[in-house]
Amino acid sequence: MDKFIKALARHELALQKVDALSRRIGAAIERCPIVVKSNDWSISNAERAEIWDEKSGKNKTHLWAAYTETTPSECGYGMRLLDSDEQEEGLRPRNGGCRHCLRAWRLIRDRSIARRELGYARLSLRSLGRQAVKMTEATP
Ligand SMILES: [Zn+2]
Repeated sequence: MDKFIKALARHELALQKVDALSRRIGAAIERCPIVVKSNDWSISNAERAEIWDEKSGKNKTHLWAAYTETTPSECGYGMRLLDSDEQEEGLRPRNGGCRHCLRAWRLIRDRSIARRELGYARLSLRSLGRQAVKMTEATP
């Protein structure tokens, strides 16, 4: 029984961690000056359109730029998205980014690690679930 409780606790903790990181990511993005500007009702429609990306349905935050910006490809032709080192570097305030987007970017990286752990926790729950099914089938 102990292993079932342990697996449930592991899964629950992993889930809570992912949720907490998601909330912190949202809070960091909300503080980006671009988002603050978009929430200002006094800006013109032209200004609003300029910071809004119709395609993604998101504000053109520094984070958005880091994920969508392209750079000439090393092979000599074509463009490619930035790699994670380039994204992190470009998000630094001295490189035209903002500290809130940089923080969100780092939290997103942490969340992807936390999601991996959640995936493992889910797998072990499934495995114990299958054992539990066998146990209930064995005892009439
Ligand atoms: Zn920003």
